[in-house]
Amino acid sequence: MRGEAMKMTIFGARGSYPLSRRDQLRYGGNSTCIHFQTASGDDLILDGGSGIRLLGDEMMTRQFGSGQGRAYILVGHTHWDHILGYPFFAPFYRPGNRFVVVSAGQTNAHIREILSGQHEDMHFPVPFEDLSADLEYLTFRPGQHLALGGFKVETVQLNHPGITVGYRIEADGAVATVFTDTARVTKARLGDGMGGPDPDDGFSKEFKSRLAHCARGSNVLVHDSHFLEHEIVGRYHWGHSTFEDALEMAHLADVGTLVLFHHAPEHSDAVVDEKLAMARDLADGVSVEAACEGMTMELGRSRRPQSGEWQADVVDWGADGGQKGAL
Ligand SMILES: [Zn+2]
Ligand SMILES: [Zn+2]
Repeated sequence: MRGEAMKMTIFGARGSYPLSRRDQLRYGGNSTCIHFQTASGDDLILDGGSGIRLLGDEMMTRQFGSGQGRAYILVGHTHWDHILGYPFFAPFYRPGNRFVVVSAGQTNAHIREILSGQHEDMHFPVPFEDLSADLEYLTFRPGQHLALGGFKVETVQLNHPGITVGYRIEADGAVATVFTDTARVTKARLGDGMGGPDPDDGFSKEFKSRLAHCARGSNVLVHDSHFLEHEIVGRYHWGHSTFEDALEMAHLADVGTLVLFHHAPEHSDAVVDEKLAMARDLADGVSVEAACEGMTMELGRSRRPQSGEWQADVVDWGADGGQKGAL
């Protein structure tokens, strides 16, 4: 159902690897996948963890089932938990569907090579060439602004190995920012070009303010909250945060709602409940939720609407199939 505002739905909230355990059914065991849809029906997918299979089934009941669908896919980064669902994404196998895979330039390989690598015959029986949908690739540098159909997207590099990107996604006057995987910068510097590995006060301050600028005034900030505080000790270089780090960013960026995300695979529903309760105790004006499969949020108008000065660095075709040009 289309609404009057951008809608965000979580299809996978788990980090590191998907799993299915009886005591995790409420928050779900699928790895990361978030779907956004504008009021006019433009589709944007962030990450292809195992949750994308469920999203694909839903999309096949719409125009993607008859090969008339178009969608953008934002690649956060290419660790396994964020890409392992693509080979099982049904709309890729329907001729006529069109996808634009939007990714930061990766240091070691083009995104097409990384995705097709999952289809090599020692891993998977269906060759990448058998994907009958039309896949195009759009590459950017973190920090660039992207105009993707009805979505205005800002990008920022996160503190995680390789090149990992956080996205600010704006449509219909509402904003959601997603920082899927990012480590506590005061403890470790990770990622290509981050100048690591040692923490540095000046860098940490500058880095946090860059992230806060990206998330500024968002209706919703979806943020890595993988570890509990006693678990992160000795694992600062694993590339993840706690709910305290997520709350700090939510306050710095003055967001409306914080959604805790990338739950550790070993955390039961009871542990995630406890994490949520502790975060709410410290929330100080920010509303806090924990991401779970099937959670849908219709985002209201931005508390601090985007200024008119926003300019795209990279513009792609709109989902209506129009020509390249300004929004
Ligand atoms: Zn991850
Ligand atoms: Zn990762």
